[in-house]
Amino acid sequence: MLHNDKLEQWDRENFFHPSTHLAEFARGNLRHRVITSGSGCHIDDRDGNRMLDAFAGLYCVNVGYGRGEIAEAITAQAKELAYYHSYVGHGTEASITLAKMVLDRAPDHMSKVYFGLSGSDANETNIKLIWYYNNILGRPQKKKIISRWRGYHGSGLMTGSLTGLELFHKKFDLPLAQVLHTEAPYYFRRDNLGQSEAEFVAHCVSELEAMIHREGADTIAAFIGEPVLGTGGIVPPPAGYWPAIQAVLDRHDILLIADEVVTGFGRLGTMFGSDHYGMRPDLITIAKGLTSAYAPLSGSIVSEKMWTVLERGTDENGPIGHGWTYSAHPIGAAAGVANLELIDKLGLIENAGNIGEYLNDEMRVALGDHPRVGDIRGEGMICAVEFVADKDSRIFYDASDKIGPQISAKLLEQNSVIARAMPQGDILGFAPPFCLTRAEADQVVSATVQAVTSVLG
Ligand code: PLP
Repeated sequence: MLHNDKLEQWDRENFFHPSTHLAEFARGNLRHRVITSGSGCHIDDRDGNRMLDAFAGLYCVNVGYGRGEIAEAITAQAKELAYYHSYVGHGTEASITLAKMVLDRAPDHMSKVYFGLSGSDANETNIKLIWYYNNILGRPQKKKIISRWRGYHGSGLMTGSLTGLELFHKKFDLPLAQVLHTEAPYYFRRDNLGQSEAEFVAHCVSELEAMIHREGADTIAAFIGEPVLGTGGIVPPPAGYWPAIQAVLDRHDILLIADEVVTGFGRLGTMFGSDHYGMRPDLITIAKGLTSAYAPLSGSIVSEKMWTVLERGTDENGPIGHGWTYSAHPIGAAAGVANLELIDKLGLIENAGNIGEYLNDEMRVALGDHPRVGDIRGEGMICAVEFVADKDSRIFYDASDKIGPQISAKLLEQNSVIARAMPQGDILGFAPPFCLTRAEADQVVSATVQAVTSVLG
């Protein structure tokens, strides 16, 4: 129940919305929407609209909306102890338990988890740890980080630099000098249409090798990548990509950060994308799925190999100079424990794998032959449909046509289904909560067909 009839005015006058056309919003040309409640895969707004959220917020409400178990865990923690810090050996039952639960689920060679609040700050932590690590090892020049074009790793100074999307650099004086970008493993958008998938992987590898050679392996500290490219287009890697990249990194003693903010805790139908693709990361970034966004919490999972060097660093230099007031916040940690328990109890990772596969299959059946649909791709509970002006010669639409945004707007308007127009390219993204049912998957597919048909014929 809302009590304030001035919400729209207050919103436009006071609220700086992230990732928003600020001027259009202030002028009233961009819709303001107040979300009031949510349950399962649905959310409601104050105008009485009920929407099927096929993007789980920002691919984060993995267990679905309205889970009483998590709300109760948060309430109980807030009543008992809303806050204490985690500096100099302090903790709470929730934060210590969650650390153990995360490590129990992570690949065997991982050792410890540092908790932050967002995916962006977790990646900032990762870069600091890597620089510290190489300083302790006496390699002060080994500091550059290789990311990929279209990678998304956050929007801080360093993480916005790692992000390989133009919008996040433009007018912000980014990327910073220590960051390099290499080829995205985006087979559908390869330059050479004649290339097989295996040839394209070999091309990505040789681009990486050339960059390492050019810069000098002794200047490159790490490579960061999402197991499946997310915000850059929802692109599972071509077969063999990760093992081939891993071999290059191993050869040059370059660390690997697996950014699992989207893929961690089940989105691909497996606990981590690293398991799924045979990556052997030195650091794993986690956030969204750690609490299903019921409270802000992120983490950097540190491998044993790095941990021993960090310990040595503190023997030589004193306590590690890294920490935030809200690191391992008890309310976030309580939400995380309840969330991971719920995922296990309801078998949600298995459901994400099964229903996700069904959603992807049905999307291919329904739209695979459409003359303006160039590619349908996905893995587990994540799926993308990419639109093209000409299918045979793979000609893309002009960005100013805004085909992706038009289709996502139509989907919402006509069928009350939320999918995300991805920021670069005409790509409609789906990443529903793991509790999606077959009937809801059918609804998403049929609504998408209607929206595509009404915009593109
Ligand atoms: N890394 C990946 C792979 C992401 O998808 C995101 C956000 O979407 C981030 C990092 C940044 O997380 P946050 O928005 O919580 O800072």
